[in-house]
Amino acid sequence: MTLEALMSAIKQGMNSVAFVGTSCNIDAVTKMQKSSYGFLHLFMRAKVLKLGLFCMDTFSYEGIKAVLESYGITLENVDAMKTRKGKFEVTLKDGKQQIFDLNEFDEYRSSSCRFCTDLTAENSDLSFGEVGSPRGWTTVLTGSALGDEIFNGAVDNGYIEARHLTDDELERVLNWQK
Ligand code: SF4
Repeated sequence: MTLEALMSAIKQGMNSVAFVGTSCNIDAVTKMQKSSYGFLHLFMRAKVLKLGLFCMDTFSYEGIKAVLESYGITLENVDAMKTRKGKFEVTLKDGKQQIFDLNEFDEYRSSSCRFCTDLTAENSDLSFGEVGSPRGWTTVLTGSALGDEIFNGAVDNGYIEARHLTDDELERVLNWQK
């Protein structure tokens, strides 16, 4: 779905595009950028900034809907969802939060996630995730000189507040990655 949107943007003549995706989405774009077949002529027309999201699994829309509905929750009443520390957290529009065991969603997990080895979207210009950082902060890794420039520019201009990960925090990211 994300690739479809990207290709549509490029075909419409947008030549400077920020693409946000999970590690496997970022890998797909990287392969398309490098491939000497097919899409290369399109990618030569556009600069694509790749923004990756740390990812350990995704679940089908129908699966999430079915599990939540079995607990009497309809998607219309959901404000936000996230997986965190092995749990699936759902925040409802009235502010209440419900936490589920990830195992409940097992049968709806994408099959490719069982083979995936890339937690931190290593082929991104910048990647973002909660692993390694305290609650309320985001771990950001820069994967290219361009990503580094953009990140430091945002810090220098006061758009974001940043500090380096401590050794322990970085170790946590590396352990999860392993
Ligand atoms: S865990 Fe699954 S959805 Fe996430 S990057 Fe890997 S294959 Fe893609």
